[in-house]
Amino acid sequence: MKQFKTESKKLLDLMINSIYTNKEIFLRELISNASDAIDKLSFESLTNPDVHVDQDSLAIHLAFDKDARTITVSDNGIGMTKDELDKNLGTIAHSGSEAFKEANAEHQGQDMDIIGQFGVGFYSAFMVADKVRVVSRAYGADEAFAWESDGRSGYTIEPAAEGERSGENDHGTDVTLYLRPSTEEDNTDRFLSEWGLRDLVTRYSNYVRHPIQMMVTKS
Ligand code: ADP
Ligand code: MG
Repeated sequence: MKQFKTESKKLLDLMINSIYTNKEIFLRELISNASDAIDKLSFESLTNPDVHVDQDSLAIHLAFDKDARTITVSDNGIGMTKDELDKNLGTIAHSGSEAFKEANAEHQGQDMDIIGQFGVGFYSAFMVADKVRVVSRAYGADEAFAWESDGRSGYTIEPAAEGERSGENDHGTDVTLYLRPSTEEDNTDRFLSEWGLRDLVTRYSNYVRHPIQMMVTKS
C-alpha cells in the first residue's frame, strides 16, 4: 500500500467530506479525463508514424451494474503505464485543484457549490464512491495495471486481473466506482440507471467531442 502525497490527502478529505457541493460533477470529471486521453492518442497518431489508430473507433463507454453498485467509465485512449498510474493518481497538483483548495479555505462552511466551479478532477470520484479501481493499459504496452483505493489510507497498484484489457490492442482506461450507500440527500441510487447517467451526460458533458456510448445490459 502506497500513501497519497500530502496535498492529495487534503483534497481527498475535502472530497469525502463535501456536504455543500454538487456530487453530480464526478461523471463530468471522469468523462473529461477519458476525452483528454483520446485526444492525446489521437494527437500522437497524427504526429508519430509508429502510432496507428482508427480515429472512428475512439470513444467513451459508460456502464453500470445495479447489483454490484458500480459505474464504469471507459476510454480507448492513450492509457497509463504503471509509473503513470502512480504519478498521475497518487499526486494531484493541477491548477483546478489548487484554485479549489484556495476557494474552499476562503469560504469554509458556507453553503455554496464550490466544486462545481472548478475542474477538480479525478478525486471527485470519491464524493460518491468508497472504492475506485482504475485498470489501464498504455498504448503500445504489453501489460495492463490496476490502481485501487478507498480514497483514505492510500492506494495499491498491481497487474490487472486476467481478461482485463488483456488483448493486444486493448489500450485505454476503465475507471470503476463502487458507490457508497445512497442517502436521502445524495440519492446516488439514481446513477445506477440508464436515465440517471444520461441525465448527467446531457447536463454536464454535452460538449465532449468524442462519442459517449452507454452499455446497456438487459437483466
Ligand atoms: P487533470 O485532468 O486536470 O490533469 P485529473 O485529476 O482529472 O487532473 O487527472 C489527473 C491525471 O490523471 C490526468 O492529468 C491524466 O494524466 C491522468 N488520467 C486520469 N484519467 C485518465 C484516463 N482516463 N486516461 C489516461 N490518463 C488519465
Ligand atoms: Mg481531469
